[in-house]
Amino acid sequence: MRDLAMEQAWEGDVMDMTLRCPKCGSTHVETRDRARRFGGALGAIAGTTSGVVLAVSGAEIGLLAGPVGALLGAAAGVVIEGIVGGAAGCAAGARLGTAIDRNILHNYRCDSCGHAYGGKST
Ligand SMILES: [Zn+2]
Repeated sequence: MRDLAMEQAWEGDVMDMTLRCPKCGSTHVETRDRARRFGGALGAIAGTTSGVVLAVSGAEIGLLAGPVGALLGAAAGVVIEGIVGGAAGCAAGARLGTAIDRNILHNYRCDSCGHAYGGKST
């Protein structure tokens, strides 16, 4: 009895989670997440670049404190700003990409009939 109840609950869950093609009803639907991946990569690059630019401008300020200070400041700045900027940019880009996936692109594609459709299957 307990097993049966578990199975039913599990199946109910799957029914809610499973993506179905609105055209043919197939469950062989894949999520593409193109914009999300692209946005994340682009955001990481943009974030790292802007982080490095910030670090370089920091090094210019550091020049006033002498060449050694500039060198140390630049090295530390590039690493820290690059990592922080890259992570922040990646997160922002991925979030933006997810929004694009959901609202603009046809994020889901049916493997059975090739029908592509948006995230909001209504
Ligand atoms: Zn289909």
